[in-house]
Amino acid sequence: MKKTVKDIEIKGRRALVRCDFNVPLKEGKITDDIRIVSALPTIKYLLDGGAKVILMSHLGRPEGEPNPKYTLAPVAERLAELLGQEIVFISADTVVDEKVREAAAALEEGQVMLLENVRYRKEETKNGAEFAKELAGLGDFFVNDAFGTAHRAHSSTAGVADYLPAVSGFLIEKEVEFLGNAVENPERPFVAIMGGAKVGDKIPVIENLIKKVDTLIIGGGMSYTFFKARGLEIGTSILDEANIELAAELEKKAAEAGVKLLLPVDCVCAKEFKNDTEYGVYSKDAMPADMMGMDIGPETVELYKAAVAEAKTVVWNGPMGVFEMENFAKGTRAVAEALAQSSAVTVLGGGDSAAAVEQFGLADKMTHISTGGGASLEFLEGKVLPGIAVIEDK
Ligand code: AMP
Repeated sequence: MKKTVKDIEIKGRRALVRCDFNVPLKEGKITDDIRIVSALPTIKYLLDGGAKVILMSHLGRPEGEPNPKYTLAPVAERLAELLGQEIVFISADTVVDEKVREAAAALEEGQVMLLENVRYRKEETKNGAEFAKELAGLGDFFVNDAFGTAHRAHSSTAGVADYLPAVSGFLIEKEVEFLGNAVENPERPFVAIMGGAKVGDKIPVIENLIKKVDTLIIGGGMSYTFFKARGLEIGTSILDEANIELAAELEKKAAEAGVKLLLPVDCVCAKEFKNDTEYGVYSKDAMPADMMGMDIGPETVELYKAAVAEAKTVVWNGPMGVFEMENFAKGTRAVAEALAQSSAVTVLGGGDSAAAVEQFGLADKMTHISTGGGASLEFLEGKVLPGIAVIEDK
């Protein structure tokens, strides 16, 4: 168990908090403030407890140079509205300078300060010790609440913990609780559902999960690499050439581990990669040479629904088909509905499966939707995330 803000003395102390304020902007205006809103519970807890709060984040890719396009000024403004209080914001080119140090030292209990984009500094993404020390010098303890960057060892996500006691905020606590428990301590049967297009990205996850799950369900574009490994015709379907052999090995490993590995038994195939094209349902052994697999078929849907119905824990990452196109969204929708109806603990990795359940209006029916795409994948791979490793154990 990792220490959280609840495990450290906060009153009168300066909390240096790494948030994920990497919000989408259009012409300098924030188009979606969910990341700021999500950070509020930790910030409010600290303020209510009498801490002096110093927030930091990156925004976009200024590539180590000050660039007004990536200033956190709009975040400061929105944060002030949401918290109903003034935010001290000094847009220093070097993020930390004398003025910033003075302002941080002058903060009173219950006051908030936001630093400028930490990626204005080249050292940030290299986990430069000097920059980490400058940041750490502003606070008395470090709170990491940015799950989306927890898989990166940067000055503001990991380096600062060399100089300050480190705890997690509520967002990271929740991610560790749900992703961690699902993978390390699941209630069984434990079913993992993997889909999406980028097979290469998911193979390490599959390798790790094979050691832990009872059933592994494969869908989406990656299915065809498994089909190819079995010598099946896959037509013009997406294929990860480099990983065909690995797919065969994974099937073997699953069999050896006594893990049920479910692949589609039928597919919705299309002539072209677009919604309005000729399409139809074909058995896995009868995919036409001039068509591509776009979704799992109706028999597969029933098979996967039955597996989910028995599960007590489900981890899902990646859509079952090209869900962005209406004609090929049925498989993903059916799986999302099966999860929504299930009484199992349902955990979604970020990215496209999260976008899919949003699209279907089922997001609030899931136990936990991870906020970090890359970070949640690395977590499911069983990797140690640097931004979490630095947090002290209870
Ligand atoms: P990923 O980022 O790897 O999770 O991939 C998500 C993307 O995979 C989505 O944009 C889907 O449209 C795409 N996808 C899912 N199934 C297929 C498929 N059969 N062929 C091509 N793309 C697919």
